[in-house]
Amino acid sequence: LTEEKAQSGTVCTTCPYCGVGCGVLARSNGRGEITIKGDKAHPANEGRLCSKGSALGETTDLDDRLLAPVVNGAEADWDSALDLVAERFQATIAEHGPDSVAFYVSGQLLTEDYYVANKLMKGFIGSGNIDTNSRLCMASSVAGHKRAFGTDTVPGLYADLDEADVIVLVGSNLAWCHPVLYQRIAAAKKARPGMKVVNIDPRRTATSDIADTHLSIAPGGDVALFNGLLAEIAAQGAVDGDFVANHVSGFEAALDAANGTDLSVTGLSGEELAAFFHLWIGSEKVVTIYSQGVNQSSFGTDKVNAITNCHLATGRIGKPGMGPFSVTGQPNAMGGREVGGLANMLACHLDIENPEHRSAVREFWDAPTMPEVAGLKAVDMFRAVGEGRIKAIWVICTNPAVSLPDADGVRAAIEGCDFVVVSDITAQTDTAQLADVLLPATGWGEKDGTVTNSERCISRQRGVLPPPGQARHDWRIICDVAARMGWGAAFDYSGPAEIFREYAALSGIAGKLGRDFDISALAAISDRDFEAMAPFHWPLTETRQGGRFFGDGRFYTPDGKGRMLALEVKAPASMPSADYPFRLNTGRVRDHWHTMTRTAKSPRLSQHMAEPYLEVHPDDASRLGLLPATLAKVQSPQGSAVLRVVVTDRGRKGEVFAPIHWSGQNSATGRIDAVVTAITDPVSGQPDSKGAVVKVEPFEAT
Ligand code: SF4
Repeated sequence: LTEEKAQSGTVCTTCPYCGVGCGVLARSNGRGEITIKGDKAHPANEGRLCSKGSALGETTDLDDRLLAPVVNGAEADWDSALDLVAERFQATIAEHGPDSVAFYVSGQLLTEDYYVANKLMKGFIGSGNIDTNSRLCMASSVAGHKRAFGTDTVPGLYADLDEADVIVLVGSNLAWCHPVLYQRIAAAKKARPGMKVVNIDPRRTATSDIADTHLSIAPGGDVALFNGLLAEIAAQGAVDGDFVANHVSGFEAALDAANGTDLSVTGLSGEELAAFFHLWIGSEKVVTIYSQGVNQSSFGTDKVNAITNCHLATGRIGKPGMGPFSVTGQPNAMGGREVGGLANMLACHLDIENPEHRSAVREFWDAPTMPEVAGLKAVDMFRAVGEGRIKAIWVICTNPAVSLPDADGVRAAIEGCDFVVVSDITAQTDTAQLADVLLPATGWGEKDGTVTNSERCISRQRGVLPPPGQARHDWRIICDVAARMGWGAAFDYSGPAEIFREYAALSGIAGKLGRDFDISALAAISDRDFEAMAPFHWPLTETRQGGRFFGDGRFYTPDGKGRMLALEVKAPASMPSADYPFRLNTGRVRDHWHTMTRTAKSPRLSQHMAEPYLEVHPDDASRLGLLPATLAKVQSPQGSAVLRVVVTDRGRKGEVFAPIHWSGQNSATGRIDAVVTAITDPVSGQPDSKGAVVKVEPFEAT
């Protein structure tokens, strides 16, 4: 933070939307309005911003802001609201045990918020029941990383995109969902015209514009495709024998499973497959980027490992311009992973089911307890709420009544729950409307702490506006409740810097236990230095600063080798039938974010897509009698939605697409997650949000 910027009133902060984690310069005019510029000094974006980041200044008004606590529909003071939350959680735990309560948190929380929420649930309440909406965006990558590398480690850096000869985008509409990375690839391609981009996606999307090749893969064909690639790598003698012999386990079994894979399930022609294999194998510097098309699947973890298998077999990992690269959907999905924000993890990439890890964290926290098993993952958590096994839930900074699959079922579960607390910036979300207690939280532009982006870069989010009304920071609210539950000493923090110091110190212990996440060099950072902290990549220890992982062949598995997995090709969990003949794909649009709590405030952003819609192939539209701009009802066994028809050949015949953003607050009928079935990957617990089967028919209003 330069003196010049500080004197001009400009604050260096980070965009709150996607996992690219762009640096933003925000300047307040002192009347609640801010102007926004991209931060040229931030390594994630080097000054670039997308439409959403550029419009941040249009989203900080106080219309619809929750400015005071609300208890049972009536405004209350903080003390009585916090007392009630603590009393009800304590009484529920006393009567039904620690697993009868849960926290459902968000990849939009700052790392310090996440850290104290996880500490309270796991170390003091004594349950693993804290999970996050990041479960919906990257849990399969986490599980795939742990299976292949021993830890949840992203091997590469964004700089690899500048250096790659081939970039393969799998299930990733980067142009809309991670636009600044897309801009970065476009710039690299312009500078190096020989660079090739392959876009593997059932739909032709905006990302296909930059691609030399678009492969319209059949849904669920990814494991077969990368098994086929592995078999071809071996057949063409392109295996890196030294790397595999010294640094990889499971090669033979993985290859046995890959040989003879039926490639017809990819839906790609022999020519398309041969050309892709030839390009991948013939170009040493390959980066394979993947996101929700891979992760959100009933076998998303296998898809991740099918990709990592190919990079391990060729030694193309952790070196400039090469490696598998998961890009996260959320701004702080990665930070949440670092502090144990998933039900099956402890802080600092330690494992909840490892006794040595549990006792290290418990001792460090001087905690009274520690669960020995993982808690409930997002979908199972709300199932338990619906079944009455969870009797009190605290939802922080997220809107599961819209965003989880089987959204109607989730809404009914929350409605029926004995005690529901929601912390948010607004009372207007579908979930907030169901709360017994509403706690006003600060939002972007007011919050203060750190986030970590998809390339392991930790950046500061800084406040440029004062907290409005009685709003408090999330870490403060969580610590206030912890204190009322009797654990004040363990949650007595002066601010985010003190929380950051604590988790940096814990990361040093994790480092000594052989974990990858270690920022212990900052364990004694002063408040002043924390305030001025510039973005940096982890790890950060006395001897190591950032960089890539695994290029040296050292992994975090027990034998120190990268693990290849033998992967069988599975059919999608739901298959189209006579009753439900279409497959429903879901995703984001360019200018909205999640359930639109913030982006809907910007008229500019709302111009891009004014309402929810359903993309239908022209042949299907004509067969069903669906005309452009009419309404269609899309229905699964789970639920239904009514959407405006867009007839387009972007998708494949028999497949329809709808965006995820619209809620009960801004569209009576457009909640597409009411239609998505609650099927999850058995390894990662990530929902199969692109795999529902549905029927589609013209909608006639009655
Ligand atoms: Fe924000 Fe992502 Fe856009 Fe960057 S690319 S400005 S992080 S939404």
